[in-house]
Amino acid sequence: MILQPRDSGWLEVICGPMFSGKTEELIRRLKRARYAGQNHQNFKPSLDDRYDDDAIVSHDASQLDSIGVDGVDEIRDHLEPDVEVVGIDEAQFFDDGLRRLCDELAGEGVRVVLAGLDLDYMGRPFGPMPSLLVSAEYVSKLLAICVRCGDPAAYTYRLSEDPQQVLVGSDDEYEARCRSCFYDGYPSTSDSET
Ligand code: ADP
Ligand code: ZN
Repeated sequence: MILQPRDSGWLEVICGPMFSGKTEELIRRLKRARYAGQNHQNFKPSLDDRYDDDAIVSHDASQLDSIGVDGVDEIRDHLEPDVEVVGIDEAQFFDDGLRRLCDELAGEGVRVVLAGLDLDYMGRPFGPMPSLLVSAEYVSKLLAICVRCGDPAAYTYRLSEDPQQVLVGSDDEYEARCRSCFYDGYPSTSDSET
């Protein structure tokens, strides 16, 4: 990041598939805000209860304190008036109200850092992420490593056949795959909605 706004806040989005290091990168940025002595608050949806209710935890076990919330309104309820940096993990699980909140906060001078899956297990845009991505000043798209062939992986493949969009799980339920290994796994879905 080379240029930063002087007169307003801004929105940073970190996206990519599972295992691409989104949470690690979010934690890295938020820890640096903490070292800089900035007031910061971190949130994640409480439905993501894979590791810890009060912490953002990466697959590599680095972690940071956070507040588990049930929706955007609950983030609003917890926000402190003097907050300077707001971090939100698993942004794909919130509704479109997240875009409004991020725009409001950035307009008030807050730096907002989001991490989330840009694509769901079918390769479709996930929740509010498209809107957040176009609203952000800074976008980082991370890639994992395809567990099948070792190529860069932008897709999250679901191992079970459960058809619901939200199914919280980790390496027992999902694997990172490159484009070709992803669509190999779903031969009948190449015309899926985009
Ligand atoms: P995300 O938030 O994107 O799901 P995390 O930050 O929680 O990712 O975890 C990233 C870590 O996951 C990596 O540093 C690595 O240790 C681990 N990992 C496990 N499987 C893979 C994979 N297929 N490709 C890359 N990293 C992987
Ligand atoms: Zn592959």
